Amino acid sequence: MSASPQRREELAASLAAVQRRLRAAEAAAGRAAGAVALVVVTKTFPASDVALLAQLGVREVGESREPEAGEKAAACAALGLRWHQVGQVQTRRAAAVARWADVVHSVDRPKLVAALARAGAARGRPLECLLQVDLDERPVPDRGGAVPADVPALADLVAAADGLVLGGVMAVAPRTGDPARAFARLREVAADLVARHPGAGTVSAGMSGDLEVAVAHGATVVRVGSAVLGTRPRGD
Ligand SMILES: *Cc1c(COP(=O)(O)O)cnc(C)c1O
Repeated sequence: MSASPQRREELAASLAAVQRRLRAAEAAAGRAAGAVALVVVTKTFPASDVALLAQLGVREVGESREPEAGEKAAACAALGLRWHQVGQVQTRRAAAVARWADVVHSVDRPKLVAALARAGAARGRPLECLLQVDLDERPVPDRGGAVPADVPALADLVAAADGLVLGGVMAVAPRTGDPARAFARLREVAADLVARHPGAGTVSAGMSGDLEVAVAHGATVVRVGSAVLGTRPRGD
């Protein structure tokens, strides 16, 4: 994993800028400094970038696709990072994801819960699951996410599974419409979830373009890729 000093400088500067944005957003929302955790989404970027980020103090990284994610996590195993699966998980890939992920942000259907539960039990260390909520007023197939009405039943399934731990909720702002409205809705879904499952207080929302809006509406985790690493070669 060789990396140029130039790339290190670049990542240090962009990471610092994102951390400043996050601190400013926390302050603007009247929240404590450090109340919101940063997951740096490294998908499509090389393991050498992950190593540089670890040197710069990053401890939580996000990935989205197999086999890239598993290979990168294996290459970075010595760095002591916490790995987040932020993208969609195909049911047949659940076991592969459970080999490297500490947290899966995109749990959205009973079949996936069952597959992850088997994999979590097999690895002997529970897998943290966030329920992805579809906030689109007209849900789009294939974008992922459970509609809010399906969240309570899905939460009960995760909470009852031996191999899984229910962490909270996650969402991506809809492509159209007001992200503030969407994140406000997510906050309501999160409050209902915590009322039934007091340990499940994580709210994963906010990306490079909308982290301030998400923090204003109660996000506890933001998932930031391009603002730290640069524009991705692929469009995902
Ligand atoms: C890629 C991705 C991100 C990061 O997006 P940026 O706009 O690059 O910050 C966050 N969440 C999910 C679910 C993603 O797929």
